[in-house]
Amino acid sequence: MVAKKPTKYIFVTGGVISGLGKGITAASIANLLKARGFKVNLQKCDPYLNVDAGTLNPREHGECFVTWDGAETDLDLGHYERFLDDELSQASSLMAGRVLLKVIQDERAGKYEGDDVQIIPHLTAAIQQYIIKAAEGYDVHIVEIGGTVGDYESLSFIESIRELGLRVGLDNCLYVHLVYLPFLSASQETKTKPAQNSVRDLRGLGIKPDVLVARSEKIANDSVIKKLSLFTGVEEDAIVLLPNATSIYQVPLTLEDSGIANVITKHLGLPTKKPNLKQWQEVVKLATTNFDKTVNIAVVAKYMDNTDTYLSVFEALKAAAWWNNTNLKISWVKAEDFDAENADISTDLAKFEGIVVPGGFGVRGLEGKIKAAQYALKQKVPYLGLCLGLQMGVIAAARNAGLSDATTFELNPQSKFLVINTMADQVGKEMTGGTMRLGNYNCHLEKDSLAYKVYGKLDIVERHRHRGECNNDFIDKFKDWGIKASGINPDNHLVEVIEGIDQPFFLASQFHPEFKARPNRAHPMFDGFIKAALNR
Ligand code: GLN
Repeated sequence: MVAKKPTKYIFVTGGVISGLGKGITAASIANLLKARGFKVNLQKCDPYLNVDAGTLNPREHGECFVTWDGAETDLDLGHYERFLDDELSQASSLMAGRVLLKVIQDERAGKYEGDDVQIIPHLTAAIQQYIIKAAEGYDVHIVEIGGTVGDYESLSFIESIRELGLRVGLDNCLYVHLVYLPFLSASQETKTKPAQNSVRDLRGLGIKPDVLVARSEKIANDSVIKKLSLFTGVEEDAIVLLPNATSIYQVPLTLEDSGIANVITKHLGLPTKKPNLKQWQEVVKLATTNFDKTVNIAVVAKYMDNTDTYLSVFEALKAAAWWNNTNLKISWVKAEDFDAENADISTDLAKFEGIVVPGGFGVRGLEGKIKAAQYALKQKVPYLGLCLGLQMGVIAAARNAGLSDATTFELNPQSKFLVINTMADQVGKEMTGGTMRLGNYNCHLEKDSLAYKVYGKLDIVERHRHRGECNNDFIDKFKDWGIKASGINPDNHLVEVIEGIDQPFFLASQFHPEFKARPNRAHPMFDGFIKAALNR
């Protein structure tokens, strides 16, 4: 019998400040290892006491990313999937609340047999269990620890990865620490002291970093590496300078150029292989090219101040644009400015070649979004509706055809004209976590449809996150409203895709295609939309 090779672990922590791009770094390392033929998984450990990201405010925390198996996760999972071009599962997302809940449930179930239940060793053992489980079957498992070293909240995760090193053997583990190098313009100097202190904090918690990734605004002088090495004890060839990039997709190539991937494989005792980065180089080339045409897209949405709120939608639009050799200009149209009955959205939308209405929850901005869809139908402007965008599209079509009372459960649950309504099993669950229609569902497309034309196949699977559905009581009316249901779930007969009849491109889905979009190929729905916008 051939002995099974142990999974290798890479732990990614961060220090000095938050927001350094630990997720992008972890995803980039995964990208480079996959390019070498290794089977790689990624996992995000978040110190929040929430059980999952489904209940977090997307305005502050950014988008809630959904996995194929219906986990509501942190947006870093989206980066992971896009950089790895793989579908991750619930196991890749671990929030502190989930582990705490498990420990407390086990305690109530008598599983601790009279022990005092403590952070160490019980909570840390439970965390390790989740990490080891997620790592099963992979050559390399990369674990990102959310937060900043020194935070009170992330201590139990840091302690867990320290203990895990002892458990699986330090030669099967690599600790990567991200730090920040501030630049003082007065003295024209890159300062390393905060980074040194952060490594000292990490060592104080029992972890000696093997690799340092030093982020900075501008490219720092190479002499910084010597200094960092001297003061932190990390070898010079294991220190990477990572200045801001034009596109996040450049990061894997910058890391590759630094030679760090070989340092990593060597440290972990993995064979040295040449990476196949051809496709990724193409992505970076497209992502950083200034094309001679630009497509202007309006995103009619609620939140104006944080691009992370619609991260996957934006990445999907960007990729579709560059695969069509065009620059993309996204402009926000603040939906709620047009909620009032007499507010007119048409002037604000007149300058765009395409309109997107992304997902959303709650009442604010709904009337504005319906108006945007009504405008798109009347003016035959390409329209892409994503989840809520489908619901608004159906209401818009009904209202344009004269059913002015057409509405949705979110606006008026008592109405007799709920063309969008909740399924019986969703009633009363509005404020609860993990109860929506989540994750993968099948969809069968009509052969003679725009949807089939863009997908090029009849059966598709896409991810969901919503409570509302097209009310099938009104489906016979669709034709009179100038739309049709061109995608249906074959198992529960719910509408998955609608499209405009006699429209150049009015396409909307109850699912979120953005979660399966990738930078290395345009997703059919986004590709079709960008092409239609370019044709306008
Ligand atoms: N709020 C709508 C619903 O719950 C749409 C959700 C979404 O866009 N993700 O059905």
